[in-house]
Order: sequence, then C-alpha cells, then structure tokens
Amino acid sequence: MSIRPVVEARSAKPTLEGAGVHLHRAFGFQDPTELDPFLLFDDFRNEDPAYFQKGFPWHPHRGIETITYVLAGTVEHSDSLGNTGKLGAGSVQWMTAGRGILHQEMPLGNAKGQMHGFQLWGNLPSSMKMTDPRYQDVAAQEIPEVIDDDGTRVKVIVGEFWGKKGPVEGIAADPQYLDISIPAGVKKTFRIDTYRRAFAYVFEGQAAFADASQPTGVLLEKEVMGQEVNIRDMSGDRTLIRFGTGDEITVQAGPEGVRFLLISGAPIEEPVAWHGPIVMNTQDEIRQAIADLRNGTFVAPAH
Ligand code: MN
Repeated sequence: MSIRPVVEARSAKPTLEGAGVHLHRAFGFQDPTELDPFLLFDDFRNEDPAYFQKGFPWHPHRGIETITYVLAGTVEHSDSLGNTGKLGAGSVQWMTAGRGILHQEMPLGNAKGQMHGFQLWGNLPSSMKMTDPRYQDVAAQEIPEVIDDDGTRVKVIVGEFWGKKGPVEGIAADPQYLDISIPAGVKKTFRIDTYRRAFAYVFEGQAAFADASQPTGVLLEKEVMGQEVNIRDMSGDRTLIRFGTGDEITVQAGPEGVRFLLISGAPIEEPVAWHGPIVMNTQDEIRQAIADLRNGTFVAPAH
C-alpha cells in the first residue's frame, strides 16, 4: 500500500458564469492534463437568489460529459432533445453531450433562497466525442449510502465502494464519485486504484489530508520533505485537494467533522482543444463545431 501524497491544496476561486451566476471554480480552463479525465469543477452554492437565478440559459456542449449533483434547492433543466425536468436536492444528472446538445440549466433554489450543488465536467475520448447524447437522471433515493461503525457515511454516486455500486453507468472516464462525511476526530483510509487521477473537494468542516507515514498532529503547516511537498493543511470550506500517485488516501477529520467529495477517474491522455463548453481533440474539430452551430446542424441526428 502506498499513500497518495497531497500535491496541492487550493481554494476554489469566485467566478462569474452563465448569465450572471456567482459560483466558485475549483479548477477548469487552465491545464487540462492536471486532473485528466476531468476538465472543470464548479461549486454553485449560494444563499442569495439574486446571485444564481439568472442561471445558464441556452448553450451548447460537445465532446464532454457534465455531472450535476444538487445538495439543496432545485435546478430546472431543458434541452434540444425535448427533455425537461427538475433536479431536486440529493439528485444527480449525468449528461453525455456527445456530438451535440443545446440545453439550459436554471437554478431555482429552495424556499430559503438557497442553491447548493456542484458541476463536474468529464472529458470524452476521441472515439466517443461524437456519440449519441444521453442523460442519466438519478433521484436522491436511488443513491446508495454506506455507514461505517465509526459514523462515517459515504454516498456512492458513481463506481463501486464498500460493496455498493452507484446508479450511474457506462461513463467513459470510468469515474468514482463519492460524497463522504466523517465525524469529528475520526481518521479514515480510502483505497483508490493506482491508475486513477484523484481529487477531493472539501465543502463542510475541515480535515487533514496527509501522508500516513507522517504525524498528523501538526496542522496548518506546509513543509518540504525531500523532493515531495507534503501539505498538512487543515483544509476548510471550498478547498480542492489534488492527490499524487499511490493507491490510497488518508483523512483525519477536524473538530467539526468533514464532508467532501472524493472523485477519481482514468486519464484519457489525448490532445485537448477547448472552446468554452465544447471540448474536442483538434482546432479543426472546434471550427467544425462552430460551423455546425451557425448552420443549425449542431444537434442534427446522426446519419
Ligand atoms: Mn451546460
């Protein structure tokens, strides 16, 4: 067993998206190799409808998958295939854009004016970039939750974990997407297969994500051990933790416990040509996508 080192811990950045949605971006639009097969992660938790209700009006996607996980409030959704629906608290929508979809995503919040949720973008390999668009909508009650003796709770959204299998299937990036809550002071180890790229996103409480061979008692400290930067940071609200190679991670929950997403996937390792919500392999394919949008053939059925 080898512990994955923390190679970076950073705060999500305030970002304006869509028609004026104030969100926090953990990563995206920078180095697409960093967390390949994942391209972007947005945290759209907000407590004021004025800052989210303008939403994400009609826009295209091609070449990627978008994964929306709602914690509180409702997101209204409609698309060029004629689908309409509402994503409620605890639900997940996994959208495979494939060769093209136009959709709008409108956060409505809840009665208290809160909107809490996340959107992850997963890349598609070249062989699947022009596949048929597809949706997998998963209601909250379809997501299995496993509870350990120490009170640790894990919602299995995608992939297999502690004998449970998440409801979303057949995804190119072969992801594992877990929502993990650990009680105060509890230390846990989670196995992540070596071939995966992995990150955690802390969104409630605090934890130390550390190399188990190192003491975890000293917190809020960064130090260099040999060639490896080992960040033993009490990572708080809205923090991205990027892991290096190894086959497990350890987490020591802080005094209020911690809740975080643990997400990993198999890298695709292909060239990335990125134009907003369209992510292809080459600039020619980007030009084609833009021409298809102009010509009205972007969402045409396959021949
Ligand atoms: Mn979208």
